[in-house]
Amino acid sequence: MKAKILSENCIGCGQCACTCEDVFRINDEGFAEVIGEINKDNEEDVKLAASGCPTDAIVIEK
Ligand code: SF4
Repeated sequence: MKAKILSENCIGCGQCACTCEDVFRINDEGFAEVIGEINKDNEEDVKLAASGCPTDAIVIEK
């Protein structure tokens, strides 16, 4: 699985980076980007980050 950010939807709230810092971070422009792979250790946190995104900007691809 891979995570993807729909950058046109991201408002830079930082929730995803706080929830799963292995996979998401806020970049210099103030928006989320994917920095890591999904694995069995962070998978639940990635799903939590995606479900908690206020603008549905996180897509988890199989
Ligand atoms: Fe952007 Fe959603 Fe992450 Fe907030 S939770 S920074 S809106 S991708």
